[in-house]
Amino acid sequence: MVTGEKKGVLGIDIGGSGIKGALVDVGQGVLVEKRFQVKTPTPSTPNSVAKVVASIVEHFDYKGPIGCTFPSIIQNGIALSAANVDDSWIGTDIVNLFCNATRQSVHVLNDADGAGVAEMVFGAGRDESGVVCMLTLGTGIGSALFIGSQLVPNTELGHLELNGRDIESWVAPRVLKNANLNWKRWAYRVCEYLQHLEFLFSPDLFIIGGGVSRVSNKFVPYLKVKAAIVPALLGNEAGIVGAAYLASQTPKISGKI
Ligand code: BGC
Repeated sequence: MVTGEKKGVLGIDIGGSGIKGALVDVGQGVLVEKRFQVKTPTPSTPNSVAKVVASIVEHFDYKGPIGCTFPSIIQNGIALSAANVDDSWIGTDIVNLFCNATRQSVHVLNDADGAGVAEMVFGAGRDESGVVCMLTLGTGIGSALFIGSQLVPNTELGHLELNGRDIESWVAPRVLKNANLNWKRWAYRVCEYLQHLEFLFSPDLFIIGGGVSRVSNKFVPYLKVKAAIVPALLGNEAGIVGAAYLASQTPKISGKI
């Protein structure tokens, strides 16, 4: 059996296509062993996802605090939005659901917030104490805003409206293919978005996460903002690491087991 202290803390990242779990060394911000991934069930209803979460806990034969990210506003353990997941999540007490499914204490937070925490503690934001805006550019656009390393949760800056459009539908990397844009033309959209964020929050640093952060050289040179821009450092593992880290800090935040 694995215990939270001895072999790492379990972090689980729930996404639209996959649900990934791994044990995390929360002192170093690295995975203890290879992550385990299960396809997100369709439809991705609360009960079907809870079963997968329980199966990941079983896979690692894990007992201890669990950190879990989910692509939704999470306030007081309740999911309050469902941009890229089944609508039945809205109003779901996600903490209680996962606690009951796993019989462990579970800490749940927004996926971009989880990735942002990991970057601030172990990655690209480690040395920044001002205002930091982390964006995850993926199927959805997620955001994590920090002031003095303190997270302002659930900012959902991917759904700001710009020029009458929901930013996510205009800037998410899928438009590269769907709207047949090259990197430079896509970068202009990202640039306009960042300039809008800069007008609103005057960040000192933007951290660009999501799959495209691996090819940041293709678009970052076109982004003209005053703030520094750096690619995220923890890649696909950021959500898992951030969730596990927070669970290790707040093991008592849980639903009724
Ligand atoms: C959701 C956010 C999420 C982001 C990235 C958006 O559509 O509204 O909650 O963080 O996608 O998954």
